[in-house]
Amino acid sequence: TEDADKIKLEYVRFFQFENKLMPSTWIVIRIDGCHFHRFSEVHQFEKPNDKQALNLMNSCAVAVLQEIPDIIFAYGVSDEYSFVFKKDSHFYQRRASEMVSVTVSFFSSMYVMKWKEFFPLKELKYPPSFDGRAVCYPSDEICRDYLAWRQVDCHINNQYNTCFWMLVNKKGKGKSEAQDYLKGTQAREKNELLIKEFHIEYNELEPMFRQGSLAFWEKEDITLTDENGAPVANSHKKVTVEHCDIIKPNFWEAHSSILES
Ligand code: ATP
Ligand code: ATP
Ligand code: MG
Ligand code: MG
Ligand code: MG
Ligand code: MG
Ligand code: MG
Repeated sequence: TEDADKIKLEYVRFFQFENKLMPSTWIVIRIDGCHFHRFSEVHQFEKPNDKQALNLMNSCAVAVLQEIPDIIFAYGVSDEYSFVFKKDSHFYQRRASEMVSVTVSFFSSMYVMKWKEFFPLKELKYPPSFDGRAVCYPSDEICRDYLAWRQVDCHINNQYNTCFWMLVNKKGKGKSEAQDYLKGTQAREKNELLIKEFHIEYNELEPMFRQGSLAFWEKEDITLTDENGAPVANSHKKVTVEHCDIIKPNFWEAHSSILES
């Protein structure tokens, strides 16, 4: 009778909907910190860019790449990270909700586990959370355009935030005063403001702040020794974090294997 009950109840399965992502497309899962404006204030992040907070995000992203082998590239800025899965990935049979939830929950746990490593003197005041979404991009070109879009966003926000916090911290302007001051200014005017008023050459700011972070697998050549102590060339793969331009084609030409996987 218990078997009969189970069979009788099994119809509820059919209420689940199919949420498989389109085959043979680049799946990008983007996670973003929930209310990190507040989180960064409560935890006294340095403004506009807290380097350790970014290093923590990068370290969590590296852990995600090591955990989920189908992820071939990741790009991060501020409280967000985009994870690119290889085109023919069958991770969770490409079911969106499983893919997103497992990525975002692993990242969040890592963030909490690694907090002390990056902020040994700061107490984590409440549990941070991240949201996540999955989008399919059907061609290499569109996938690269997506990543370029995130990097353009990083640049625009960083330029604005650098000016804003300079006006607030160095010129004693109020937040709304600084906001009004910057309203409608063009990129060039912002660069000129930074040079004239603060002697800051925008392009000399840290690449991680201006360009965000990329994480990807790279082959590393190493030399081991055999049992007789003779050197043996070998290589192994490791996840590296770099900060460079992914809008221009140069990076993709130099790392053509990434989007070929
Ligand atoms: P939502 O929940 O809608 O994502 P949010 O408050 O997280 O809201 P975002 O647009 O995601 O808003 O912006 C993230 C905010 O977190 C930034 O505006 C910035 O204030 C802060 N932040 C994130 N990372 C850093 C960092 N490394 N240094 C300083 N501030 C940071
Ligand atoms: P998957 O990643 O596919 O979910 P799984 O190993 O998590 O694999 P589940 O079908 O989710 O498999 O089953 C969860 C398993 O976790 C159970 O089979 C049991 O072994 C273990 N488990 C979970 N909660 C408890 C608990 N409170 N006490 C003892 N074992 C538990
Ligand atoms: Mg959000
Ligand atoms: Mg956010
Ligand atoms: Mg964000
Ligand atoms: Mg399960
Ligand atoms: Mg389980």
